[in-house]
Amino acid sequence: AKELGRNNYQFFSEDMNHSILEHLALEKELKEAIQREQFTLMFQPKISLFDYHITGVETLIRWQHPDKGLIPPDSFIPVAEETGQILEIGDWVLEQSCRQISSLIRDGVLSASTKVAVNLSAKQFTDPDLADRIRNVIDISQIPPQCLELEITESTLMDDVETAIHIMQEVKKTGVSIAIDDFGTGYSSLAYIKRFPIDVLKVDRSFVMDIPQDQNDMAITAAVIAMAHKLSLEVVAEGVETEEQLHFLRRNNCDEGQGYLFSRPLSLGQLHQFLRENEHK
Ligand code: C2E
Ligand code: CA
Ligand code: CA
Ligand code: CA
Repeated sequence: AKELGRNNYQFFSEDMNHSILEHLALEKELKEAIQREQFTLMFQPKISLFDYHITGVETLIRWQHPDKGLIPPDSFIPVAEETGQILEIGDWVLEQSCRQISSLIRDGVLSASTKVAVNLSAKQFTDPDLADRIRNVIDISQIPPQCLELEITESTLMDDVETAIHIMQEVKKTGVSIAIDDFGTGYSSLAYIKRFPIDVLKVDRSFVMDIPQDQNDMAITAAVIAMAHKLSLEVVAEGVETEEQLHFLRRNNCDEGQGYLFSRPLSLGQLHQFLRENEHK
């Protein structure tokens, strides 16, 4: 059954050429998916590169389609963003992320200082009710606000910088922290970075990928880490897959890493087991 799902999923994503009919069909299917709660969350640990303890987990959505199997976010989030359905999906993600992490903290498998990082799309970020939505989810899940981190891509922030700064200031009043996701891929102006009330910079996987072969990528990564530290930001490297990459990042004082070397995205049950196995490391 798993194999069938995977084949169908291939077919599904290859077919996503955004013809109007397909777009409409997907919109309708997404509506059903929302009503029937066909979404599920995966959790990918973030690891301290100083002592290898687990500093947080990023939640990553999947669509458990009844016929097509597990559909990855890149195949439906862009459409949900266009149709506005991302607001409902995003609320679900926020609430589920906080509830599930809060239950792990209550069970004692996660420390109360572990962060849960939730991805926000552009439409969610510019929603005037964002800060209220966050306060609400903190209330419902009883999670300490400093346990929640929002990941926002660089391109979302650069669309309208002044508005973005204002929204971030409102969001920060709730006590949550903000990370810039995919840093280095958009056109960010370094002049703005210092004006953003952010806490964390996530170096995009495209820079980490070719370490140690690509001298330019290494120079950029080292420079981004140094710059971020001068601005008192923490740095997380994405897509860490090899020991060489890990050593390079450690030598350059990168704070945290995330990637297949440490762990793939895990189901809640798998995360539970991963945390138990790594308890004493
Ligand atoms: P992202 O936020 O940059 O998430 C990281 C992606 O890289 C994830 O893909 C993750 O599975 C993958 N990844 C992690 N470590 C490695 C590694 O070592 N090697 C490689 N090759 N890949 C790695 P995923 O789960 O397919 O998510 C793709 C994108 O979809 C995310 O990119 C994010 O932009 C978006 N997304 C995921 N969940 C949500 C969500 O709940 N809401 C919104 N708005 N977007 C989401
Ligand atoms: Ca992310
Ligand atoms: Ca990213
Ligand atoms: Ca990405």
